[in-house]
Amino acid sequence: MKVTIFGTGYVGLVTGACLAEMGNHVVCVDIDEAKVERLKQGVIPIFEPGLDAIVRRNHAEGRLDFTTDAATAIAHGELIFIAVGTPPDEDGSADLSYVLAVARSVGQHLDRYVVVVNKSTVPVGTADRVRETVAAELAARKASVEFDVVSNPEFLKEGAAVEDCLRPDRIIVGSSSPRAVAVLRRLYAPFNRNHERLVVMDERSAELTKYAANAMLATKISFMNEIANIAERVGADVELVRRGIGADPRIGYHFIYPGAGYGGSCFPKDVQALERTASSHGYQAQLLDAVEAVNRRQKGKLFELISRHFGGELRGKTIAVWGLAFKPNTDDMREAPSRPLLEALWQAGARVRAFDPEAQAETRRLYGERDDLLLCEDATTAAQGADALVVVTEWKAFRSPDFVRLRDTLAGAVIFDGRNLYDPAAVEEAGLAYYGIGRGRSL
Ligand code: NAD
Repeated sequence: MKVTIFGTGYVGLVTGACLAEMGNHVVCVDIDEAKVERLKQGVIPIFEPGLDAIVRRNHAEGRLDFTTDAATAIAHGELIFIAVGTPPDEDGSADLSYVLAVARSVGQHLDRYVVVVNKSTVPVGTADRVRETVAAELAARKASVEFDVVSNPEFLKEGAAVEDCLRPDRIIVGSSSPRAVAVLRRLYAPFNRNHERLVVMDERSAELTKYAANAMLATKISFMNEIANIAERVGADVELVRRGIGADPRIGYHFIYPGAGYGGSCFPKDVQALERTASSHGYQAQLLDAVEAVNRRQKGKLFELISRHFGGELRGKTIAVWGLAFKPNTDDMREAPSRPLLEALWQAGARVRAFDPEAQAETRRLYGERDDLLLCEDATTAAQGADALVVVTEWKAFRSPDFVRLRDTLAGAVIFDGRNLYDPAAVEEAGLAYYGIGRGRSL
């Protein structure tokens, strides 16, 4: 099929590449000229396992192309996907200006029936707004063209985006138009061969499904962080509690890891946007308010532990930081817990030696050159001569360091394990002090 995708970020580029991989002809359009130029030359702007290979292959084989020209892109597709950003507005609600700009473009150029498919995460009611926006542009140029708008939220996880896109656990299709649903069924048939993965519903339910999914996942994280904060006060180890509750199939082991707080481009903004949606309909979403408040507090947790360990005096100290990305297997640092930590350390007069396998270029882009930040070539170099080591992102490469060697590498003898990766006894046996999250030892 012929597919047009607006936006070549994590969602647009991955979706475009995966649809091309299935034999479709995909044109991706972005307003960022430099990005489009790099993509044409085979340079992938983000780190995502497996993405390079499928983008390059499908581009070389003529099934995946990139452009900045909205008119030609709209002329190409039977389906026009919207996969542009929906960043938080000042009040926390989703900024729809990029989505509606695409809708205006579509209305300005459309000359035949298409299905406009919204993949961006958008507040309930946005499908109607997109439909109205396209219709207004068509009316302005007195064009009579049929089209449908479908809500098809995306559930891929950064770090496993290609895998998720090729093997989705469900495909939500929000539409009340049988014609549009039939087009989407055809597009998604190769992803749907063994199990029925398509869940068809109305647009509003589809839009809310995306927010509900992210809010549920964020709630699980804040819940475990709440339990961790209780555990450390009562002398319990949240890691044992985690295993104890995960064994109950109604709870399960997934996504109940305490840590340094959730980040990324989705959970923080989507929880906030859902709160705003609720309040604009006269409902105060108390649980969501609490999920967000617990997370905000948790992002200060590592700094609090470090500061307390050093008696509040961090001036002149050097802290080694392992992991800067908001989670492993990505270079994305949007809302990453490393950021408030770095900023608090600098504010307190500490210097940082950091290492991340993928997010160093992004760190440099965000913070520039500064005397109190040294980005190191590997984890051991980052630890060299530091007064303490903090683990912020649970990259696999950080999971089993040689603690004895680490003790000799560090100048200080303390590890702050923001992801509870290590056995406290093994760390202490090597002669290092250990602080985790909720492990009964910190307060
Ligand atoms: P992103 O910021 O990585 O990419 C958005 C892209 O859209 C940018 O390249 C930007 O230049 C481009 N763009 C903006 N306006 C445009 C226009 N008028 N025409 C063409 N291109 C335009 O965003 P993302 O992370 O891919 O997220 C996109 C949407 O998908 C968001 O609503 C997000 O909430 C949602 N989502 C993201 C993820 C994720 O893991 N990143 C997962 C599921 C859903």
